[in-house]
Order: sequence, then structure tokens, then C-alpha cells
Amino acid sequence: MRIANLAGRLVLLAGDGAVDVERASGGAFAADPQAVFERWEEFTAWAREADTGGAQPYEVSDLLAPVPVPRQVFAIGLNYRDHAAESGFAAPEHPVVFTKYVSSITGPTGEIALPEGNVDWEVELVAVIGRKAYQVAEADAWGHVAGLTVGQDISERLTQFIAPPPQFSMAKSFPGFGPMGPALVTPEEFADRDDIELGCVLNGESVQKGRTNDMIFSIPSLIAQLSAVLTLLPGDVIFTGTPAGVGQGMTPPKFLAAGDELVTYVKGIGEMRHTFA
Ligand code: ZN
Repeated sequence: MRIANLAGRLVLLAGDGAVDVERASGGAFAADPQAVFERWEEFTAWAREADTGGAQPYEVSDLLAPVPVPRQVFAIGLNYRDHAAESGFAAPEHPVVFTKYVSSITGPTGEIALPEGNVDWEVELVAVIGRKAYQVAEADAWGHVAGLTVGQDISERLTQFIAPPPQFSMAKSFPGFGPMGPALVTPEEFADRDDIELGCVLNGESVQKGRTNDMIFSIPSLIAQLSAVLTLLPGDVIFTGTPAGVGQGMTPPKFLAAGDELVTYVKGIGEMRHTFA
């Protein structure tokens, strides 16, 4: 199943079209895309049986973040060995956790304003929680995931390293630095939910390409370790880390500039397309 946020309303995607959930359910489910995660099991049961015959064509540019206002945003640093190495760090033995403040969230298309500094890209698979998770075993963790979406953990490196220890959360939370979309796809849609290709393309040139089976801490492992400490709430998101190929790791380093176009994709979900100004 694929869902999306079409101009602020929850839709089911079917073929090339979209079905408005509030209308198709006769008001049983609200139009608010963030509200659906509170009733995820009920919703998926309805959606499996829903009549998608009335799916309407839509404009990709009207899609917004599928999870627009999560209560908690988790992000994981250095979660791929090749990226840890290019960043000059040893592979972590415990997840490196920070947040992207909710005000940084934006949709899968459009223009992002560049603050002063060295703004870098980080393609990431984002997991969205569909069932409250506290002290969940790794073996049960996928049962708490509503679905997966594409994310960019856009990062301004000067802010990040302005003081020791690094200011991950600040550097990664400028307005527009947390794009997500274009759709949320349920885990059973993937041939192997633990091995998914992701990448990003800058001005037509591939800069990152990886597979999620190279993550040091898998999605189930992250859910087990986060939920050992705190409660993951329905609609929370986890940016799961980026593979190698960020601009900071290049020789010489390369950063985003006005006029650049960045395409970010996860196979089986879709792509986001942003320009910078
Ligand atoms: Zn990241």
C-alpha cells in the first residue's frame, strides 16, 4: 500500500491516481495525513478493501511530506561503514542519535533556501512508526513500522563542527533541511525490506548509491535500541543514516550551490526533486 499527502489531505495512491481517504471512507478517517498513524491498524484494514476505482490524476508538485508533523524525529549518524570512514570516524558500536527539529520538514519537491555555509546532501531511508514501541525486541520491531519513505538529511557542515562535540541537530534543522516523500510505502511492498537501494543525483551526476543491508544498525536494531530507552509514538520518524558519497567526503569537498538540482531516490518508493536558492 502507498499513501501520500496531497496538498494537505491523506490519499491512497492507486495506479497513476490518488483516492481521497476522508471522502472514500465517508469520513471514517480524517483528511489530516499525520492523524492516520494513531489508527494505523484500523486504517490498513480499511485500505486493503477500499474501492480505488475513483482514483484521480494529480500533480506531483502538490505532494507534501507524508509525515508532516511527527512528535519525535530521530536521526542516526554514521550508520554505514563507508560513510563513517569518509567522515574520518570509526564505525560506531552504539547508534549515534540526534534529532532534526520538526520545523525543518518539507515536501518532496520545490526550492530550498541555502543558508550561509557548507550545505551537504545525505540520502536516507526513513522509517515511520505505526504502533507505539517501548522495549520492543528486534524480532518484533518491523511490526511497529507503518512504512518507509525517502528522506534527505540536509546538513550545514560549519554549524555541525563549530564546537566540540558536533552540533548535529542544529546543523541539520535549517528550514527545508528535512524533506520527505513522495509517498509512504508499507514494508510488505518490498521484495526484501532489509535490502533496498537508495541514492542521490546532483545536477545529473550520481553522487550517492547504496543499499540498506549495509547499515551498521538495521531498522529493527534501531527500533529495539531506541525503544529500550524511550517510547516511540505512532507517526514518529527515524532517518536511518546515509551511505558514502556526501560532499564533505570528496576531494576537494563539494557543497550545494544556488541553481543546483538534487534528485533523491529509494527504489520501490520513488524520488524527490529539489532545487536550491
Ligand atoms: Zn544523516
